[in-house]
Amino acid sequence: MKEQDTYSRQTKYIFITGGVLSSLGKGIASASLGYLLKQRGYKVSIMKFDPYINVDPGTMNPFQHGEVYVTDDGAETDLDLGHYERFLGYSLSKKNNTTTGQVYFEVITKERKGHYLGKTVQVIPHITNEIKRRMTIFEGEYDFILIEIGGTVGDIESLPFLEAQRQMWLERGPQNVLNIHLTYVPYIKSAGELKTKPTQHSVKALMEFGIRPDILLCRTEHKLSKELRQKIGLFCNVEENSVIEVIDVESTIYEVPLLFAKRELEQIVLRKMGLPLNELELETWKKFVERIRNPKYSVNVGLVGKYTKYTDSYKSIIEAFIHAGSINNCKVNIELINSEEITEENVASKIGHLDGILVGPGFGFRGIEGKITAIKYVRTNKIPFFGICLGMQCSVIEFARNVCGLPQATSGEFETNDYCVIDLMDEQKNVKEKGGTMRLGAYPCVIQEDSLAFKAYGSKEISERHRHRYELNNKFRALLEEKGMVMSGTSPDGNLVEIIELTDHPWFLGVQFHPELKSRAVTGHPLFISFIKATLNNKNKK
Ligand code: GLN
Repeated sequence: MKEQDTYSRQTKYIFITGGVLSSLGKGIASASLGYLLKQRGYKVSIMKFDPYINVDPGTMNPFQHGEVYVTDDGAETDLDLGHYERFLGYSLSKKNNTTTGQVYFEVITKERKGHYLGKTVQVIPHITNEIKRRMTIFEGEYDFILIEIGGTVGDIESLPFLEAQRQMWLERGPQNVLNIHLTYVPYIKSAGELKTKPTQHSVKALMEFGIRPDILLCRTEHKLSKELRQKIGLFCNVEENSVIEVIDVESTIYEVPLLFAKRELEQIVLRKMGLPLNELELETWKKFVERIRNPKYSVNVGLVGKYTKYTDSYKSIIEAFIHAGSINNCKVNIELINSEEITEENVASKIGHLDGILVGPGFGFRGIEGKITAIKYVRTNKIPFFGICLGMQCSVIEFARNVCGLPQATSGEFETNDYCVIDLMDEQKNVKEKGGTMRLGAYPCVIQEDSLAFKAYGSKEISERHRHRYELNNKFRALLEEKGMVMSGTSPDGNLVEIIELTDHPWFLGVQFHPELKSRAVTGHPLFISFIKATLNNKNKK
């Protein structure tokens, strides 16, 4: 492989747009192509341009937008950045996600400062220039920047992004800018046929904006014959060998890079852009996928939360389970359990059969009592427990109520009394605005030796990502510790509790941060790996 050095590169840009309908998997397609180029020795980054006017998804409901993905540098971003990081295997930054809101915010702020004095500020060139500035911000640092445009071609909102894409092609030429369009070829049962018309229409829409696709990725549930690919190529003005069938993968999204490699997608890209193919290293990935497809063991894990109707809300947690499962050679069956439905009476039937439970992150009071009831059950029945952020906070409340004799224990997020064992962080006390004001991004944490956490990480110093306003209240720390709760991870100054655990239990651990955001394909995350191992042990004991 070529050395990953730092010389200034001629950066090439690959745009990925989507047509026909949403949810075709543009994010996974971008991540997969990025991974293949990286495995051919190129330096790659991936960006997402989102058409909505929110400055970031941080203020959106998880039902609306799915999970908010947080980067090391504290940006609240689209969940596709999670796919990019999981596939590429390294961290991205706030510069990798732009929204229409950010673009306008920047331009309007400049306008107020007098930056454009005398001029009328317009979509073209002012908005499009700002978009291009953001698209090219890594110029010279990477061989490839993949740019995924959110939404579907034809949406009003994404027009300025497409216009910027057109201009980039015009300014830099076909050797440096490549357009990939992801479409859908539906199978119509009554006709017994695959239909190409929706693809033709969406390419037509793209051409109206002056963008000619170089490669078509055709999502389909059935095989595309050579004739059909020829037809699509002819009608859409794309070379036949660049019309690529993307048939639904059988068991896991992590098969997509293998599928793309089989279709020689990255080779076609490299040829079109005039770059050498280099050797492709895929063996580790193949083994990773093989373990997902044919695991030796299986466990049943409960994911307790209130956003269980929309699995995208827990995207990174679900992916982290897949990674940790693969490393443990184990299929992790996830049962989503709505905490609002858990009561003292039904808790045993809701979670008693599970090999472990994870109580997830969240905001607000709804569903809290169910979470606390579930935690009491797994604590007393010695079922492995993993609490993340709000899940960890609930485990502290449960312990304070049922072990420390503070029945009124709560969090300041839910009510104000004298027993807020979880309370607003000092730095949050004067915060008035909601957007981007939580404790966000990566912070260091120091781990106590001989703890469960230390065994999992194998290190005393770690860094994990955060997204919260509340924390364990130090006023209650001594009492909690006296009763057996171990504060096994804290901020380096010892002030903020980051990890709690119980020792009279096979695996009971809560974290104030979000480990799921740093779990990567192939390598996984130490805490998830350790938790799945514990659930396997628990199952074997039964
Ligand atoms: N609502 C809690 C807080 O702000 C937990 C946040 C979370 O789970 N990410 O501290």
